[in-house]
Amino acid sequence: MPGSDANNPAPLLAYSGLRLRRTSPLRERDDWREASLANPETRVLPVWRGRNLVAGWRGGSGDARPGDALDLHVLPADAAEFAELVLLGVDGDAPVLAADLSDWPEDRANALADDAGFVDLRQVGPALGAQSAALLSYARGMVHWHRTHRHCGRCGAATANLRGGMLRRCPDEHCGGVAFPRIDPAVIVLVDDGGLHGDGIPRCLLGRAPGWPAGVYSTLAGFVEPGETLEETVAREVREESNIGVENVRYMASQPWPFPSSLMLGFHASARTLSIQRNDNELEDARWFSANELRNAGTWGDDDEICLPRSDSIARYLIESWLAGQD
Ligand SMILES: [Zn+2]
Repeated sequence: MPGSDANNPAPLLAYSGLRLRRTSPLRERDDWREASLANPETRVLPVWRGRNLVAGWRGGSGDARPGDALDLHVLPADAAEFAELVLLGVDGDAPVLAADLSDWPEDRANALADDAGFVDLRQVGPALGAQSAALLSYARGMVHWHRTHRHCGRCGAATANLRGGMLRRCPDEHCGGVAFPRIDPAVIVLVDDGGLHGDGIPRCLLGRAPGWPAGVYSTLAGFVEPGETLEETVAREVREESNIGVENVRYMASQPWPFPSSLMLGFHASARTLSIQRNDNELEDARWFSANELRNAGTWGDDDEICLPRSDSIARYLIESWLAGQD
């Protein structure tokens, strides 16, 4: 269960709580890139094809650990010069950069650092320290955004990377298109029945998507559409996926989820109806679960008959916070 502190009742979910000074005078300088590369204190977080460099990880196994930022000199000079760079922030006086090395062939990427390898953050996130996980996810998200916004959405011209990577601008003065780092808001909701079932035992609604490991059930989720409030998205998604009507939608917590670019907005909601009928093809099953069924469940990747979502997910938090409220 994620931690919280007395001054901030919101839970500290994985990939959040980063202690890095994001804004700095360096970001405002036109020469932020040259100045960062000239600073011997600069640290670099390489990202290769959506994967982060993680120490202790080699060949798909190993013990992930912090120590994931490289000294700048580890990067070959030509690599730093040609890579897409993002100034993530400043740690003390040291600029912290993300560098997109996705154009490198695999063998070159694998040879970048001793005792470290490129890995999908979702494979190691729960094993990393909170700060490392948050920093790597930030780097991953920013690099993904740059990689998918290389051209102007208005006129198609190649865009320039400005303000330390927090802005891309079209060079065509008649166009003037600008783009800021994009996140896609998505709601995720635990629906409880308030004991409406005949036996009086409270249950919550979970579903499973095709392709998940056997036995995994999770909270329902979906992207916010233009013109919707978050509460309306919650109601629509639950209706689409289960035909359950909801009320009393309560905000619980949020989580950056840069896989590739979501912000998860977590809710609890109360069911007005109980009869499940799936209206779309997003889920292959949806069921009501009692607290006892879930307390005996395994976790994602286990062999248990019922498994809960990954421990680094807000879905898991929503389920565990519901369980904590049951007798
Ligand atoms: Zn343009």
